[in-house]
Amino acid sequence: MRVGFIGLGTMGSAMAANLAKAGFSLVVWNRTAAKMEPLVRLGAKASKGPAHVAAETDVIITMVSRPQDVEAVVSGPDGVVEGIKAGSVLIDMSTVSPATSRKLAGAVTTKQAEFLDAPVVGSKGPATQGALVILVGGLPQTVERCRPILLAMGKTIVHAGNVGSGSALKLVTNLMLAHLMAGFAEAVLLAKACGLDPKRFLEVLEASTFPSPWYHTKGAGMLKGDFSPHFALKHMRKDLELMTALGHDLSTRLPITGAIRRLFAQTEDAGHGELDYSAIFPHLAGERPSPLSR
Ligand code: NAP
Repeated sequence: MRVGFIGLGTMGSAMAANLAKAGFSLVVWNRTAAKMEPLVRLGAKASKGPAHVAAETDVIITMVSRPQDVEAVVSGPDGVVEGIKAGSVLIDMSTVSPATSRKLAGAVTTKQAEFLDAPVVGSKGPATQGALVILVGGLPQTVERCRPILLAMGKTIVHAGNVGSGSALKLVTNLMLAHLMAGFAEAVLLAKACGLDPKRFLEVLEASTFPSPWYHTKGAGMLKGDFSPHFALKHMRKDLELMTALGHDLSTRLPITGAIRRLFAQTEDAGHGELDYSAIFPHLAGERPSPLSR
């Protein structure tokens, strides 16, 4: 199977590199052309645009930012739909709403192509190691057809249900992650205000019933003032907007998520959207992240 990859940002560049290393014949496209160069060095072909990628491959993966960005590369001028062939599969791995996934599926179905939503859990490190957790929505036979491709990028494939279910499960998972980050940042802040060494707090977490390497990685960054992006704050803010809207549509009350959404929105509006999502910590502390940490 020839594989196309559209969107070579923090995640897409690492995921596409793993496909190339696994031996898939790869065609790539990125809006900022320079980001295609490392993939070309790994043997991929650089394409002229999404429609060309789709015309030359059997499975097309999109990994871009927001719902409107995926819709632009799929359904816009020179988009995937213009080039996709009958029987091909579009796999969107961006974090979007279930409604967007269903819309994308509808768009490729007009060309007798198939669709999977397959957003991922795990950041830059797991993407580089091919250790992502991939949450898939779509027909079982389409999932099976694409499994070898997904396994080149992830260690665990969770088939959540029909189209849109992967996106729904991803938003549920990121709701938990946003709450964890907000709680962790406030706890470290209070520990510091009490005159405690935050490292003692990390020791307590380690010895508790809910230890995780995540606290150490994010805690170390907070204490050093290093907010270089693994998962950009603007993307978590986008996810919080998507989960809040989903809760509203489904008449499900998410009051704590609403408060966390406002915190992320304020931090992005203060100009820190490109930093890691842990940058809510200096924002809560009333500090500006150091320019060196950008
Ligand atoms: P990123 O580093 O910001 O990269 C975004 C990519 O999308 C870039 O290649 C960008 O192209 C492209 N793009 C954005 N808008 C576009 C448009 N309108 N047309 C064409 N290309 C466009 O983002 P990322 O961290 O890789 O995340 C990608 C997706 O995965 C997001 O939905 C995010 O929420 C999700 N995600 C991220 C993580 C993480 O830890 N980073 C983890 C799980 C899921 P340019 O290079 O030209 O800007």
